[in-house]
Amino acid sequence: MKVIGHKKQKELLKKMAGSGNIPHNLLFVGQEAVGKKKTAEEFFKLLNCDKSEACGECPSCRDIEAGRHSDLLIIEEDSEIKIDQVREIQKRLSLTGRSENSYKGVIIDRAHLLNSQAQACLLKTLEEPKGKTLIILVTEHPNILLDTILSRMWQVKFSPVESGMIKEALISMGADEDKAERITRISFSKPGLAVRFLNDDKFRKERTKKEKDLEELRKSCLGERFDYVKKLAKEKSEARETLKVWLSILRKEMIESEDEKAGEIKEALESIEKVLFLTSKTNVNLKLSLEEVVINL
Ligand SMILES: [Zn+2]
Repeated sequence: MKVIGHKKQKELLKKMAGSGNIPHNLLFVGQEAVGKKKTAEEFFKLLNCDKSEACGECPSCRDIEAGRHSDLLIIEEDSEIKIDQVREIQKRLSLTGRSENSYKGVIIDRAHLLNSQAQACLLKTLEEPKGKTLIILVTEHPNILLDTILSRMWQVKFSPVESGMIKEALISMGADEDKAERITRISFSKPGLAVRFLNDDKFRKERTKKEKDLEELRKSCLGERFDYVKKLAKEKSEARETLKVWLSILRKEMIESEDEKAGEIKEALESIEKVLFLTSKTNVNLKLSLEEVVINL
């Protein structure tokens, strides 16, 4: 499976695929961009590969890579996932597969965004799995899902990936030593980010700017911080991206810091996590929320 790191998880999934004993409902849990969704896609490749081992070359593997495999539906949303989308899932799972041996599946990325109606509707499908079907929920906030859903899932946990592995993977993808080193440093153990940095210079530059903004803000007075918020609050998705960058930086600082400083960082971290969570689920007042964050930096 072409996934950076997560050796144990890959072995476990390969073993499942080999034995044919595959749970119908899987829950992939871990921080954003560590490789959960990528692993889910690779698992589908493995199950449906015309050759073996998710070869990446057969029609099935190529279609999954191109996002056009008729037996795999991927739901990726930035905001609320609604009941209509769950009904679409149910419809897709009831259709006949590409071949007799083909697994039909659904990956729901950011599954914590399923609203309560959608979760209740999905529960029925989880309770009565049929034939060769597989549902993989991917999330960094499993606790938001209904207990009744969680109790139906087979959970696989994903941790951040060791820097050395990310660097090695970047080099194998064509980056030189220096570039691989730089990208690894700003990827905070998240292979998903590292690969995007490698392929998307604009994204990398924007990211570096967000890091600098944080550095500057921490030296600024409250008035300057609020001025920054005024600009940042104009675009919700941009604000969320900025907060995610800060979150990664602060998490790293927290691990490396001494006790006294760790308390302050923790407070900042918590306020960012809270705003990220609220802005993903509801229409909170973004400007007010961001002001709370910059006060705590
Ligand atoms: Zn294949």
